[in-house]
Amino acid sequence: MPHYCKYFIAHCIDFRFQEAIKDHLAKNGLLGDCDIISIAGGVKDRDFILKQLDVSVSLHKSREAVLINHIDCGAYGGSGKFSSFEAERIFHAKELEKTKTRILEKYPSLKVKIMLAKIQQSGKVTFEEIKA
Ligand SMILES: [Zn+2]
Repeated sequence: MPHYCKYFIAHCIDFRFQEAIKDHLAKNGLLGDCDIISIAGGVKDRDFILKQLDVSVSLHKSREAVLINHIDCGAYGGSGKFSSFEAERIFHAKELEKTKTRILEKYPSLKVKIMLAKIQQSGKVTFEEIKA
């Protein structure tokens, strides 16, 4: 029996963001209508992301991808590797853009949203959509 979902989600394995990501997806009506992959570094391994997206598109006809990287990601060396918060933010925005470009080369009609998750001192997580 065919079964479809609208979204493909990729985010890092980091446990600190799990609950917030789930809440964010639920609040925006994506939870229950998406394939989700969790991989260290979020979009860092573009080949893996593409392979998983291929499966999601062919099996479930997903039409929109949401890619989420996060600040202080250990797979990229953590926040300490960057000279400032802004430098880290720009780095991740570029990483996300590169992956978005790869996806659009293969699936030009797919909608791709890229997001950066940030964790506050309090532990509260916020999301920023990166716009071109
Ligand atoms: Zn991470």
